[in-house]
Amino acid sequence: MKRVALLGATGSIGRQAIEIVNAHPELELCAAASGSSPLDEVDAPLKQVGGDLTELLERAQPDVVLNAVVGFAGIHATLWALERGVDLALANKESLVAAGDLALAAGDRGGGGILPVDSEHSAIFQCLQGSSPDQVAGLVLTGSGGPFRGRTRDELAGVLPAEALAHPTWSMGPKITVDSATLANKGLELIEAHYLFGIPYAQIEVVLQPTSIVHSLVRFRDGATLAHLGYPDMRVPISYALTYPDRGPTPVPQLDFTTLALEFEAPDVETFPMLRLAREAGERGGTAPCVFNAANEVAVAAFLEGRLPFLGIADVVADALARTDGAPARDLDDLVEIDSRARALADERLVVA
Ligand code: NAD
Ligand code: MG
Repeated sequence: MKRVALLGATGSIGRQAIEIVNAHPELELCAAASGSSPLDEVDAPLKQVGGDLTELLERAQPDVVLNAVVGFAGIHATLWALERGVDLALANKESLVAAGDLALAAGDRGGGGILPVDSEHSAIFQCLQGSSPDQVAGLVLTGSGGPFRGRTRDELAGVLPAEALAHPTWSMGPKITVDSATLANKGLELIEAHYLFGIPYAQIEVVLQPTSIVHSLVRFRDGATLAHLGYPDMRVPISYALTYPDRGPTPVPQLDFTTLALEFEAPDVETFPMLRLAREAGERGGTAPCVFNAANEVAVAAFLEGRLPFLGIADVVADALARTDGAPARDLDDLVEIDSRARALADERLVVA
């Protein structure tokens, strides 16, 4: 029996994870948490709405933590698992982006390993099985391009939250859906891939594949490229992370190759600057990715509340990055402080915008 602590149990990933756990007799939910929504519908011996997630994890002593919290709030749980040698099924990409260096150090000390749940990273992780690092020439992250692919900046000026929330291929929580529309999500995933797989940024490409059938690819030194294909359905990567090293069955249908469109195109980083800003922040290193993430969280919340235009999101993030030195964090307290300062800078910019 594998005992799963599910954090973010009421969200898009959380609900699909419960379906996977219920379908596998060898998986058991030992704890569930949400930020503020009630957990009445969730069947788990330990439940917690709000509060300190690490206290719940201490009581639950799970075999695997599925971190499906949205945003920086997931950071303590990520570090808890890595530090204690507990497997971490990671959907909460923001924690790894913000705390990449601290997370790697915690994993080295404690022995906790990360099983990626983000579909692109799960795809890469699967393509990498059985290969050694020296055989890998690079990673290719795919993205759908979101609802605004192909638009000009002028056409983006007045877009409303409801338009940004209408994702063409994936059904997800509101924050990641807006991130997909700005391409910030692909930027966060670029940094996430760097930390997960230890590959330099120069060897991680991003390419758009609008139907979201190709979930990502790995290039090898012999000229071979391995791809991971499937219908866009998060139950596959969730199931892979929870049943690893086995590969449990899911109800997801097999691909029908007679009806597939598999076109690729380059992302337009002039129109969607968040991807470029994320790459720059990743390459700067230190706490620049933390600042990118914090300012983005503030800007996305403001956009969803109608207080910031869509194109303002990138302006707020660029401004916060320009006003911080990105010096590395000494420890978690230092990182939390840097995250708060970046949020304050973003808030200041919102008032001006
Ligand atoms: P969501 O908004 O649907 O759900 C978020 C969950 O987090 C909710 O259960 C909420 O109660 C909980 N939460 C928020 N703040 C919390 C706090 N302080 N403490 C405890 N719980 C808290 O979001 P989602 O779409 O399920 O995304 C969750 C994470 O997974 C994000 O990091 C996202 O980037 C990542 N992800 C999601 C998808 C997807 O298909 N939805 C795909 C890839 C990655
Ligand atoms: Mg993804």
